[in-house]
Amino acid sequence: MPSQSSSLPVVKISRRGAKRLQDGHVWVYRSDIVSAHGVAPGTAVGVTDERGKFLGTALYSSASQIAIRMISPQAVNDLHSLLCERIQAAISYRERVVRNSDAYRIIFSEADFLPGLIVDRYNDLVSLQILTQAMDAEPVRQTVVSGLSQRLKPASIAERVDPRIRELEQLPARASGLIQGEKSSTIVSMNGVRFHYEALEGQKTGSFLDQRENYAAAARYTHGEALDVFCYQGGFALHLAQGCSKVTGVDSSRPALEVADRNAALNSREIEWVEANAFDLLRDYADAGRRYDTIVLDPPAFAKSKANLDTALRGYKELNLRALKMLRPGGILVTCCCSYHVSPAQYLEVVGVSARDVHRSLRILEDRGQAKDHPILLNVSETEYLKCVIAFVSNLK
Ligand code: SAH
Repeated sequence: MPSQSSSLPVVKISRRGAKRLQDGHVWVYRSDIVSAHGVAPGTAVGVTDERGKFLGTALYSSASQIAIRMISPQAVNDLHSLLCERIQAAISYRERVVRNSDAYRIIFSEADFLPGLIVDRYNDLVSLQILTQAMDAEPVRQTVVSGLSQRLKPASIAERVDPRIRELEQLPARASGLIQGEKSSTIVSMNGVRFHYEALEGQKTGSFLDQRENYAAAARYTHGEALDVFCYQGGFALHLAQGCSKVTGVDSSRPALEVADRNAALNSREIEWVEANAFDLLRDYADAGRRYDTIVLDPPAFAKSKANLDTALRGYKELNLRALKMLRPGGILVTCCCSYHVSPAQYLEVVGVSARDVHRSLRILEDRGQAKDHPILLNVSETEYLKCVIAFVSNLK
């Protein structure tokens, strides 16, 4: 059978790998590569099954366990044009689904058919992150940067580097920095709340945009005295301050709390910020008999891999137990989990068991996930990771 991708090197995959693609996934693991003779790291390849049947075009990594990330079921002979089309499609999708915000994710890797590329917009700044050999290749970088630049006309484009990812992909070390323009700080607005943004500081690409819609959803129910645990730069706390009488934000990161405090001033809000280990603080506050009407839990991912799932679930349970103990009847729990390895059903079970243990009953007001600018691609379960449960607390007597 003639190859339909005559200009590209060919990677042959096993029957199991081919089945995975037929099931709609876009990854093939290294263990399912049958041959990849002479394929250079980070290049576009034609993919065939063991009998030579053409399955599509992919980006190849010589280092990652995910050897192949599909980019098209067809033969791609002009990668530059395909990337430009994909960037435009990603921007158009956001025009349809993003409301009330000038900060949102523009490209979410596989979910935008641009595997290995993350791009966020923060008002007039763009921040990008490159996760694979193929996206790091110089011609691809140029296409991405010029595509974003032409369509969004940002003041600057910054690159945020995760050194661990570059190491895993066997890419040379590289520093974070501006790759276009000179402006590195701005002010963004989401749901009418304003935030300072520094392109070269902070965690992730600087903010947790995936919670944007959950901030607004939570603010519809929250009231009274509120505690925002793992508050970072105050995303939830500042939204809660619209309807709550008193808000306290807790985080272990002093730099994050310093920005949180500037954000409060920017919105003319009074919020108390506490630098502490959340586990210790929740235990101390619960022992001291403190009570709240609203508690938000938004910890970092505890389950980084399947191997530590049990430990992670215990961590989530402990947090939920302590929060539920402190919530007054009629109170609101907003409880989040960003570990991909914990499924939505598993997380609901953790929250439910915690409630039973402390004799509370919960009514689910909203069972939510990541904001729509972080699309979940059906059949690619790895694109779905954030859980955000908003629940009404009653006493079980
Ligand atoms: N709710 C935030 C995002 C939270 S990200 C928002 O919407 O923007 C997780 C946060 O947990 C980070 O800010 C990190 O500094 C903090 N953190 C991690 N471990 C912690 C701990 N043991 N105690 C308190 N904060 C912690």
